[in-house]
Order: sequence, then structure tokens, then C-alpha cells
Amino acid sequence: MRHAFRYVLDVYHRLPGGETATEFFQLERGRSRTLVLTDALLALSPIERELLEAEAEARWDLVEHAWTEESAVVMSGRSPTYEEASGELVLVPWRHQTRVSLTRLRPALSGYQKGHCFYCYQPVDMTSGEACHVDHVFPWVLGYRLPDVDLNAVWNLVLSCETCNAGPGGKADAIPARRFLERLHRRNSYLIDSHHPLQAALMRDTGSTAKTRWAFLTSMEAFALEQRTKRWDGRAEHPPVF
Ligand SMILES: [Zn+2]
Repeated sequence: MRHAFRYVLDVYHRLPGGETATEFFQLERGRSRTLVLTDALLALSPIERELLEAEAEARWDLVEHAWTEESAVVMSGRSPTYEEASGELVLVPWRHQTRVSLTRLRPALSGYQKGHCFYCYQPVDMTSGEACHVDHVFPWVLGYRLPDVDLNAVWNLVLSCETCNAGPGGKADAIPARRFLERLHRRNSYLIDSHHPLQAALMRDTGSTAKTRWAFLTSMEAFALEQRTKRWDGRAEHPPVF
């Protein structure tokens, strides 16, 4: 419980640029360390509550694994990678070693997207594998020419509606327009600045400052275009929600 207060509860209300105005609980410190839930938690809609619970669960999973000594060592050198068959984020420490399952990917990303498609902002059922696709912003096929970049890592993954990902005129194996790369950059910086458990992995994979991370994304964009990867302009968007 000591760790919970330090790593999860203390930063729960923290957002980039300050604390959230709504407090879902208050911590009363002292010897008994009491947690008091506030009425704001009851005011959430059922969908918001479901997303909040799912994301909190995913954060717990990640933090719990980071606490075990073995994973801490492993995580210092490798980033979690997405395994499509299981829908999970896993650590594969070294070749031929047993993978460590960390958490399901969708709940880990759905909180930021507030139940909406990353590209068109259409509401999506984040619990459905059919409705909610995991999209590689830089298409997975580019990975063959980029042995040092893990395109299955969280920095490159977003949740998308079926139409944007795989429908007629959907993104498929293209790279998205520049505005989507800016959106991805904001998302990654948000996770880093809100002390998400994947903060270290995101920074290791893409850069420790916002400037280096943007330089990384634009160098990836240049590389993809050099490889004649198609560009996808997106489709009509609903009002932005993140
Ligand atoms: Zn969409």
C-alpha cells in the first residue's frame, strides 16, 4: 500500500499543466492513511466510470509489474510491445525468453481517447475487439526496414474505429496526415507528463524531451515517405474530444 500512495494515488489527479479541478478522492495522511472518496466519483456517467475503471486497472497492472524486481531490471532495457493475438502488452526480455504479460492494451489507451476514435473522434465501444481497432500510426510493414524501431510499442499505437482503420478509404498501410502526427505527439507527451506507468518506455523509445520526440516523429515520417508509403488524409471528423 505504501507504493500505491507514492506512485498511483499521489499522481492520480495530476495532469500536464497542473492538477485536475475535479477531485475523485482525498488522501488523509498520518498513521492510518485513509482514502476518502468524493461525490464527484458518483457524478460520472456509466461510460465514463467504465473507462475510468478500465484505465485504472491497466495502470495498476503496469505498476505492479514494474515493482517486481525482475521486471524492473527488464524494463530498464526493453519496452513493452503489443501482441496482437492476445491483445496484450508484453515484455519479451531476450530472444527465446518467456514473455511477461503486462496488461491488456485497449484499456491502457482508452482513458486518453475518452471512448472515441483517434482519427475521426467518433464514439467507439472500446471493449469490443471488432469495433475498436488497434492501429499502428506508422504501419507495421515499415518495421522490416527499421530493425531498431519497435512499431508495436505504445508510442505508435492508437485506438481507431473500424472505418478509419480498415474500411473503404480507411488508413490501412498508409501513414496519416501531419495533423494526426501532431495529435500523436500530444498524446505521447500527455502520457509522459501525467506520470503514466509507461512514461519511461515512451521516453526511451522516442526521446526525453518534447523537442526530441517531435524530431523523432518527423524523421519517421520522412523515412516512410521515402519508402513511398501512401499518405492518408483522414475523413470527416466529429468535434475533438481530446
Ligand atoms: Zn474513426
